[in-house]
Amino acid sequence: MESRKVYVDNNATTCVHPEVLSAMLPYYKDNYGNASSIHAWGREARDAVNRARIAVAGVINVLPEEVYFTSCGTESDNWAIKGIINASKDSNLHIITTQIEHHAVLNVVKYYEKQGLEVTYLPVDKNGFVDTNELKNSIKKNTALVSVMFANNEMGTIQPIKTIGNFLKKINVERRENQEQRIYFHTDAVQAFGKVPLDVNELNVDLMSISAHKIYGPKGIGALYVRKGVKIEPMFHGGHHEMAKRAGTENVAGIIGFGMASAIAAADIEEQSKRLKKLKEKLFNGIKERIDEVYQNGHMEKSLPGTLNISFNYIEGESIIIMLDLKGIAVSSGSACTSGSLKSSHVLKAMDVSAVLAQGSIRFSLGLFNNDDDVDYILEVLPPIIERLRKMSPLYSNSK
Ligand code: PLP
Repeated sequence: MESRKVYVDNNATTCVHPEVLSAMLPYYKDNYGNASSIHAWGREARDAVNRARIAVAGVINVLPEEVYFTSCGTESDNWAIKGIINASKDSNLHIITTQIEHHAVLNVVKYYEKQGLEVTYLPVDKNGFVDTNELKNSIKKNTALVSVMFANNEMGTIQPIKTIGNFLKKINVERRENQEQRIYFHTDAVQAFGKVPLDVNELNVDLMSISAHKIYGPKGIGALYVRKGVKIEPMFHGGHHEMAKRAGTENVAGIIGFGMASAIAAADIEEQSKRLKKLKEKLFNGIKERIDEVYQNGHMEKSLPGTLNISFNYIEGESIIIMLDLKGIAVSSGSACTSGSLKSSHVLKAMDVSAVLAQGSIRFSLGLFNNDDDVDYILEVLPPIIERLRKMSPLYSNSK
């Protein structure tokens, strides 16, 4: 098979869908008005922003006025946590989160921990799932916020958000009667939005972070859903943009792109989900048939349809990435090269994956523009790469 370019790193970011780009371009070239201006250019921009807000809100079944545009998923996560904590008059608060959150959540929570707040980092089982009973048992009188991600970016594992949401709703009814601290529920749905159906009201979440560049929208635009009535402090102070909750001139073209990407994703969510699941199964089965000692990290069913994380025993993920890159294939690893040392993923560590297997993990994230030919190409190129790397590995020769 001739060499080709195969991008299977769609959880890192995606290309901008051609229809998204076409929708955005006029807002750079002709309709470049400031959405706050009262002239025709401004009104055109404002109308387009409002239409995009409706499109984004529709994907998660919320009111448009509950969607606030931000610059990215990281900002949305920061704002959700900081906004809730800073809105409370109490300084002795408790936050519950998980050990496998994205750093956009983990590092914010750690910041508050350093400031003296109490934090519980829930463990996960070997498939990466949080135990809802453990979450229930972790709740304290001063618990103000629970932040559990919808789907993990490395494994794709989908958490029982609906169960947690229903449970917290019941607790909040009791708390209201006793005039006690309400528990807000935030979910980082950056990886799930547009890939699996999400209905905020069914899930009973109060805050949800989402981002455009994971669903064929542009980089630099995200949003935070904030349930009506939830008291949240703004993170930016300035003008009255975003219903006076998030100051800063709107990224109009970005917002239009986010709206279009949301509409495209929503129209095709079931179909794409089925198609990607099939492709993922084909990839995993093909790898298992051709290569021994490979292990899936995460869960095949309760996970994002296109995400497959695999450990190849005896070798390092970084080396696999480099060799796949030479063949035109883009993937990610579960380890990050930090100042010359290979640091294993905190997610794999929390799942109790051994250090050797964690170092040998690779994430394939299939997307809208991947097809059977891409998978066939990976299945042709990967086995000789693994064979070559294992031949060079002392761990491998010692095991034989
Ligand atoms: N949360 C999760 C689960 C993510 O995967 C990412 C990005 O990879 C983020 C948050 C941050 O989103 P952004 O890149 O838009 O800042």
